[in-house]
Order: sequence, then C-alpha cells, then structure tokens
Amino acid sequence: MAEVRYESASRVYAGSPPVRAVDQLDLSVEDGEFLVLVGPSGSGKSTALRMLAGLEDIDEGTIRIGERDVTHVPPKGRDIAMVFQSYALYPHMTVGQNMGFALKLQGMPKAQITEKVTEAAKLLDLEKYLSRKPKALSGGQRQRVAMGRAIVRDPAVFLMDEPLSNLDAKLRVETRANIAALQRRLGTTTIYVTHDQVEAMTMGHRVAVLKDGLLQQCDTPRALYDTPANAFVAGFMGSPAMNLREARVAGNGVVLGGMNVPLSRDAFNAVARQNLQSVTLGVRPESLSLAPADTAQAFDLTVELVEELGADALVHGVITGEPGSRVVMRVDGRTPPALGQVVRVALRHPEEVHLFHPESGDRLI
Ligand code: ADP
Ligand code: MG
Repeated sequence: MAEVRYESASRVYAGSPPVRAVDQLDLSVEDGEFLVLVGPSGSGKSTALRMLAGLEDIDEGTIRIGERDVTHVPPKGRDIAMVFQSYALYPHMTVGQNMGFALKLQGMPKAQITEKVTEAAKLLDLEKYLSRKPKALSGGQRQRVAMGRAIVRDPAVFLMDEPLSNLDAKLRVETRANIAALQRRLGTTTIYVTHDQVEAMTMGHRVAVLKDGLLQQCDTPRALYDTPANAFVAGFMGSPAMNLREARVAGNGVVLGGMNVPLSRDAFNAVARQNLQSVTLGVRPESLSLAPADTAQAFDLTVELVEELGADALVHGVITGEPGSRVVMRVDGRTPPALGQVVRVALRHPEEVHLFHPESGDRLI
C-alpha cells in the first residue's frame, strides 16, 4: 500500500503544435484511497494513468509512489497492477492460469500461486470457473478475471482504465458496486479512470476532474456537486447537467427569464468587486420547482419534452419570450406537466444558485 503523488507532471506529445496531454498535474492520492480521474474523451485521463504505470514518458515533473521517486523507474519496478478496458486475457489459458500468469513469470512456486489464485477467485466469486477458458465466460466474468490478475499480484497501487466500458448498463452498475466494495476490503490505493460522471460520483472517495490535460478540481463527490470550482465542472458533474446561462446583474440580484434572483451579500460583493455586468448563472435541475401561476418571483417555461423516469420526471423547456434559452428541471413523476404547456417555474431556494465569472468560468464565491 502506498501514497501516490504527481508533482507538476506533464506529458507532451511532439507535433506542431505539441499536445500537452497532461499539463503540470499536481495530485496526491492517499494511502488506501479510491481516487477517480474523470473527464471527457481526450482530456488526458489514460495518459495520466499510463505515466504512473511507467508506460508513458514523464516530460516534466515527478511522480512518487510512497517515498520513492519513480519518474524514471521502468514499469516492472513500480509495484502497480493495471486493469484495462480490453481485458486482454490469454485465450488459450484457463481462468486460473490467466490469473496466475504474472506470478509464474516472477518465478513464484506453484503451490503459492495456487493459493493466491484460489484466494482471489474466492473474493471475486470465480471459484467455479477456474478451469474454464475465457471464451466460455460472460463479459462480467471476464472482467472479474482481469481484476483477479491484478489482485493476485498484491500491488501497492491498482490502476484501472475504464474497466467497465465493455459491460451492459445493468452489469456495469452491479460491477461498480462490487469493485468499490472489493477496494474497501483490500484497502489498496486505487486510481480509476472513467469518462462517466455517475461512475465517478458513486465510486470515488475523491474525484479529480480533467479537461484538456488540466486538473480542474479534486474533491469529494459531494463537494464537486455542491461547490464546483468552475462552470466546466458544474456542467460536467451531475445528470442531467446543471442549467448554465449568462444572466444580467440588476440591483441586488441577477435576472433569469424576467425573474430577479437575489444574491447573497458575499455573492453581491464578489460581483461588485470585479465590476461584472453579467455572470454565468448555474441552477441544478432539482433546484427549480413548479409554482402557482401567480407567483411573482418566477418565470414561464414552455414545455418541449417530458422524460418520465418513474419516481420523477425531467421537464425540458424554453423560457417563454427567450428563444433558445433551454432549461431542464426535475419534478415529481406523478404530476408532470404536458407537452406544450406553459408552466410557472420558481427557485426552490434563492441560495441554490451557482455564480461563475462570465469569461473565465471560475466560481465567484
Ligand atoms: P482520455 O483517456 O482522457 O480520453 P488520452 O490520455 O488518451 O485521453 O489523450 C489525451 C490527449 O493526448 C488527446 O488529445 C490525445 O489525442 C493525445 N494523445 C494520446 N496519445 C497520443 C500519442 N501517442 N501521440 C500523440 N497524441 C496522443
Ligand atoms: Mg482513455
């Protein structure tokens, strides 16, 4: 077990212009922590993981595992085990042989290999399948064999790069819970890459959000959701995404669809200090609610789409009189409005808004 530290670590691919796939990454992962790296495709997640694994050069900065500087240590010497998206199981070997192969290469005695493989198979509920070949397994079972191969090595750090992306939706949900539980049991420091923000939120002790090779924020799922550091994180974490729009500053508040949203004193001070005429206003879908038609502090929404999810429904619409101003809100599933209806929409609480700088996107307070 070990702590992992990226210190201003960069990977720059040659080209014109060069690609800073990972740009001055500063990130500490605690001993035993489950850290998720999340971001859109091409944001540098795999590169960051591969740098730690030793599969990618580190062009600037340092990477440490425990107290050891591993920046120039070859992959073999880093005491890590990686699970990839493609499990890359050896088709001609049984499950047991696949799981024990790395140990055999290390020259571990056969009896000890069998012991380790059996132990891992128990943990992963694979005991019945040890003598099968991979082709006789389901996708979920193959995924577990890939996990088993990493577990038997008892590494200081597990690295996982989108290990669930080949599974169907239902199995993915099940498996992510199993991986999280397994990690808790083993207590091995784990860095897990995904582009799926739901996976990130549900699995990570902390989540690091990457965009264009740059770390945007690293915090607990709750903190990312409640206090996103910028408009990108705000829009990326949460499903459906936060409503984000430019809103004019007027008096002590900002204007949304003709509704005046009062600002807290701190928010108002931040706006005044930077002399902003407008802000990027963020409102989560669940922070909006249907209101009686005569509600003063509210706006009219023309309903364009209703997605019924059962317990609740997502109402998509356009602010009446503001073409192109799309808004999504979450309402009670039993009484959703009808398509084409105009509904009155209010903020659940005025403090449930997020304010970002209109140009930089940085959180104002
Ligand atoms: P992610 O895993 O988040 O989808 P990657 O780490 O694979 O992103 O890629 C990050 C960036 O680096 C992308 O812009 C990608 O095109 C670029 N990149 C990745 N591998 C190479 C390579 N071998 N040569 C040049 N550019 C690369
Ligand atoms: Mg990737």
